[in-house]
Amino acid sequence: MKGRPTTQVSIQLGDTALGLNTRICRRDFLNAALLASGNALLSSIAPDQLLAQQPSWGGYTGVGDYADANGNTEDVMLGGHAVRDGFFRTLPSTAADTGEVYDLVIVGGGISGLAAALFFKDQANPKHTCLVLENHSIFGGEARRNEFIVDGQRLMAPQGSNWFAIPSSVEQFYERIGVKWWEFKYQEWGGPLPAMTLSRSSYHHARQLPSPANFGFYFGAAFGQRPGLWLIDPWNHLERAPLSSKLRSDFAKFLTAYNQAPIYKSEAELRPLDTISAEDALIDNCGVSREFIRLFVAPHEAAARGLGPDALSGAWYVRMVGRRGDIERHSFPGGNTGFTRHLVKTLITDAIPGPHTLEAVCRNPVNFGALDRPGNHLRIRLQSTAIGIEHEREPGKSDFVRVSYARDGKIYELKARSVIMAGGGWITKHVVRDLPSTHRDAYDQFHYSAHLVANVALRNWRFLHKLGLSGGRWFEGFGYWTEVRTTATFGSDSKTIGPDSPTVLTLVVPLFYPGLPTAEQGAKGRRELISTSFREYERRIREQFVDMFSSAGFDPRAEIAGIILNRWGHAYMNPQPGFMFGKDGKPAPGDVLRKAPFGRIVFAHTDLSGTMGHQTAIQEAERAVTQVLKV
Ligand SMILES: Cc1cc2nc3c(=O)[nH]c(=O)nc-3n(C[C@H](O)[C@H](O)[C@H](O)COP(=O)(O)OP(=O)(O)OC[C@H]3O[C@@H](n4cnc5c(N)ncnc54)[C@H](O)[C@@H]3O)c2cc1C
Repeated sequence: MKGRPTTQVSIQLGDTALGLNTRICRRDFLNAALLASGNALLSSIAPDQLLAQQPSWGGYTGVGDYADANGNTEDVMLGGHAVRDGFFRTLPSTAADTGEVYDLVIVGGGISGLAAALFFKDQANPKHTCLVLENHSIFGGEARRNEFIVDGQRLMAPQGSNWFAIPSSVEQFYERIGVKWWEFKYQEWGGPLPAMTLSRSSYHHARQLPSPANFGFYFGAAFGQRPGLWLIDPWNHLERAPLSSKLRSDFAKFLTAYNQAPIYKSEAELRPLDTISAEDALIDNCGVSREFIRLFVAPHEAAARGLGPDALSGAWYVRMVGRRGDIERHSFPGGNTGFTRHLVKTLITDAIPGPHTLEAVCRNPVNFGALDRPGNHLRIRLQSTAIGIEHEREPGKSDFVRVSYARDGKIYELKARSVIMAGGGWITKHVVRDLPSTHRDAYDQFHYSAHLVANVALRNWRFLHKLGLSGGRWFEGFGYWTEVRTTATFGSDSKTIGPDSPTVLTLVVPLFYPGLPTAEQGAKGRRELISTSFREYERRIREQFVDMFSSAGFDPRAEIAGIILNRWGHAYMNPQPGFMFGKDGKPAPGDVLRKAPFGRIVFAHTDLSGTMGHQTAIQEAERAVTQVLKV
């Protein structure tokens, strides 16, 4: 076996038995919505071509502020691809001049763009104006959430960005936006069944080594197990795993390496590691096999860096092993959505009505009308895709940058004294039309891979509890792990959780293909993500659950209350060898973009760091604003 087995799950059921024909909150979405929505400009321009390419993504998108903003929506994806393909450059100039002039325009309303807006508000002249352009129907970027109503209870789950740790390098920032992390309390165990230790995020037990006793590993047909086998508390019972003795010994070696003190390496030690893959570094340093890495380590690394260690720089291997010391993990009910909501509340007080408390900011609906109010110094314009950014004159001499964006089927133009590009490198290099070759070459060294995050709402999770589990990992079929979370009480209808409670299981599914070149893995993942219909993914999820849980009475028709898919085409930047210190005599690509603003245009977004996370999104924003204030 080389890496992950590709065998299909062993149980094959018809559509009806799988519950594919049961009415749940899912297939009620009409593709017609695409044509009526924000970036539908494209539909009026190239309908035949675009609709011919359009996959059948339709599916339930949830309730609340984030309904219809699940992952990268079809219209946002089509808009981005039209920018990439130079479509808007070929249009006759029909842009309507809004007459607006801003001191700063920020492209991208994720954590980085919103944090930049706040640093600017705090540090610039109070009269200075700022506009954030965001292409989705709500701010947040990868830090957004899904919401379900299940049997009367409102449930939230992250679409992507999920947890944060204390201590944190950006704790002061949390305080600035009013996140009182010390007030977080989580649902306590409820009901008569024996209590289990629950995770606070969708990752924790899956990543924690060893995981708690109520976590399991599942081995199915690919491991000769028919019916499949749940190995409960696997780290203490590895001898019972249906694995070769070599793989079992690799598991034990990896656990030992992981439990060592963190490996802090100096630059002198990291430089040679940046010339090899993380997979080779792991083999050299931990003595584990490539097969083990691809089976076990790769899914987690891919969940945090997009691809497996085969495609990443060896300099990142130090972050794959070594316990992190004492950290306190937290997650808002909808993941890091909590940061973006607090940011927006801090920027525009009435954008989320009510007091600046964890509960009100989490639960009260966004007042969309307050976001882009004429006369405000800070405005957030949604469903607006920046399609062209260019200095008015020669970059070094220009006083203004021209900004064009598409919204509601029209193109608009305005002027900015400075621009921060916080939308991500995959699109920035196509939007900034006069980008010099130095910066373009740097961005060409940024590779991105795709992720699917599926949130599956359940009426109860008695079947898991019956197996002695609150979650587990598996190594074949669809997905990699899932776990029941205990939710922060300020966002949950019920202050307790037990197997009878409704819950949302999150399946984080990075699309990676060990052995293929880095860029090819990303492209292949995006093809898979774009071309797979909602129904097909739903079928795979149901089959996987039936295979793993039917022995404990799981019935997909009864238990599954809703499914939302979040498709992220460029979920993670994949730092390949050479990314940290540069290659072939060239500087590190991130440094080129961070250290050298281009005229009046400055670059932010978490991807520049190579370590995508909310902290780096905030840090890149702070650095970018410092540069803007010097322009
Ligand atoms: C599945 C997943 C799980 C994650 N889990 C965690 C986690 O647990 N903890 C953590 O710290 N981090 C996590 N992250 C990392 C995440 O990237 C960061 O936390 C953070 O959300 C990044 O913020 P950002 O603003 O830099 O980028 P983004 O979130 O990508 O925001 C950029 C925004 O700009 C918009 N945009 C792009 N181009 C344009 C354009 N031309 N015009 C207008 N708007 C545009 C985008 O649509 C997007 O809304 C996760 C990421 C993913 C994908």
